[in-house]
Amino acid sequence: MPQRTIRGVTIECVQGDIANQADMDAVINAANARLVIGGGVAGAIHRAAGPGLEAECRPLAPIRPGEAVITGAHNLPNRHVIHCLGPVYGVDEPADELLSSCYRNALRLAEENRLRSVAFPAISTGVFGYPAEPAARVAFRTILDSLENLSSVTHIRFVLFNDADRKLHDRMLQELAGPES
Ligand code: ADP
Repeated sequence: MPQRTIRGVTIECVQGDIANQADMDAVINAANARLVIGGGVAGAIHRAAGPGLEAECRPLAPIRPGEAVITGAHNLPNRHVIHCLGPVYGVDEPADELLSSCYRNALRLAEENRLRSVAFPAISTGVFGYPAEPAARVAFRTILDSLENLSSVTHIRFVLFNDADRKLHDRMLQELAGPES
């Protein structure tokens, strides 16, 4: 099942580029502490957004692991970017709680800004080294636990760079969400 709708919120996993999600109100950036262009997700987002995004980020930096901040999307086809700093695996502890905070804080900012749709990358699973499967478990557990607090957000998309990660996330979502009712 490629998508699930639970408590009125559709959750789906797709393979693609986080910087190319034109139908979503916001994309989430797997940011670095200084909120500057980097590799991976932060590189793709800042390249597509243009230098105005770094300029808007400058006074908001630095952020700490687990924190999130929201900006405009500049040249990206979205309304906002929500920048999350995930934990560096093996360094920032407790890693699962800090990763969970990223997802919780991103959804809180989406609600505060009355956004309906948000697209997440797999935060911390690239340069920051968090293994994909436990990271996916934390991500979906947090999102499923947050559903009861959502009134504005009705569409949550996970954008995975490759098909193996997309399959892993699909499987984890089905496992944690349980059988369709
Ligand atoms: P972090 O520093 O939080 O680990 P990365 O950007 O290095 O963040 O990677 C996070 C995840 O996003 C990795 O699984 C990586 O393969 C994936 N990724 C990298 N570029 C993109 C992109 N353009 N769109 C979606 N996912 C991406």
